[in-house]
Amino acid sequence: MKYPGKRAVDGLSFDLHAGQVTAFLGPNGAGKTTTIEVCEGLRKATSGTVRVFGVDPQRFTPSERARMGVMLQSGGIPTAARAVEFVSEIAALHRDPLNVNELCERLDLHRIGRTPYRRMSGGQKQTVALAAAVVGRPELLLLDEPTAGLDPVARVKTWELINELREAGVTICLSTHYMEEAQRVADTVIIADQGKIVTQGKVSDLLSSGSSQVVLTTSTPADLDSLKQALGPGVSVASRFDDLVISGPSADEISRALVRWSSSNDVVITSLRSGDRSLEDVFFELTGRDLQ
Ligand code: ATP
Repeated sequence: MKYPGKRAVDGLSFDLHAGQVTAFLGPNGAGKTTTIEVCEGLRKATSGTVRVFGVDPQRFTPSERARMGVMLQSGGIPTAARAVEFVSEIAALHRDPLNVNELCERLDLHRIGRTPYRRMSGGQKQTVALAAAVVGRPELLLLDEPTAGLDPVARVKTWELINELREAGVTICLSTHYMEEAQRVADTVIIADQGKIVTQGKVSDLLSSGSSQVVLTTSTPADLDSLKQALGPGVSVASRFDDLVISGPSADEISRALVRWSSSNDVVITSLRSGDRSLEDVFFELTGRDLQ
C-alpha cells in the first residue's frame, strides 16, 4: 500500500487461521491500520492480493460483508448515535443477531443512557464500536485497537468477550499496543515494523525461541561501557526506561557476569528477572532499535 511519498505496507504477507485470535503488533506507523483497512475493503491496495472468505474484499457482496465484523480505530459511527439504539439498529440489519439487551448489559452500555456518540468518553466510544462489530454474529472480526483507552475492568470484559467468541469459532484479528493483551488473548501474533513483518508465529513459540534475557535495575545509573565489557561478546545491552535488558545465549552466564560486574564496580542490583521472555521483551528486541 503506497500513499503519496510513503510505502505504508510493503510486501506484508500473512494468513489468519480460522477460529483463532491473531494479534497484530507493531510500533506507531508500522502499517497495522492500513493493512486491516485493506482487509476490510475500506482501502484498495496499490498492489498485491487480499482474499477474505476467498474473495477480494473490494468485491464483497452485502452478504459477504455481513460475515465480517469491523471495529475501526476511530470514526464510522454517526455523531448523534446513542449507544443501545445504535447497537439495536445494527442488529436489525443482520439475519441472526445476538441478543442486544444481553450484549449491552454485559458491556455496561445501558449506563451511557442517551448521551450522543460525540459526547461519549473515549472508552465509551470504543465499547459502542465493539458491540456494533460483534452484534451481527460475524464469522470474522477485525478489531483495530479494541481496548485502547479502556479502563481495566472494561478491558477484561473485552478480553472475556473475545475469548467467548473464539470458543464459538469466530476468527479474530486485532491490533494492539498492549503486549499483555496479546499474550493473554492471542494464539498467534504478527509483529510488523515499517510496513514489513518482522516476525510471526504462535505466542508460545515466540516466547521460547531466541536468546535468553535478563532484566535488571540498579540503584545508580550503570556505566554501560563497563557492563558491556563484563558481559563479553555476543551479549547485547539495551536500556528501557529504568531497566537494563540484557540478551545473550545463556541467562545463567549473564547473571554470573552481572554479579562479578556489580561487586567490582560497586553497583547495587535492586531487581533482576531472568529466564522466560515476555512478549514485550520480544517486541523490544525486534522493534526497539531507537532505544538501544
Ligand atoms: P498506529 O499504531 O500509530 O495506529 P499503524 O501501525 O496503524 O500505527 P498506519 O496508520 O497504518 O500505522 O500508518 C502507516 C504509515 O502510513 C504511517 O507512516 C502513516 O503516516 C502513513 N499513512 C497512514 N494513512 C495515510 C494517509 N491517508 N495518507 C498518507 N499516509 C498515511
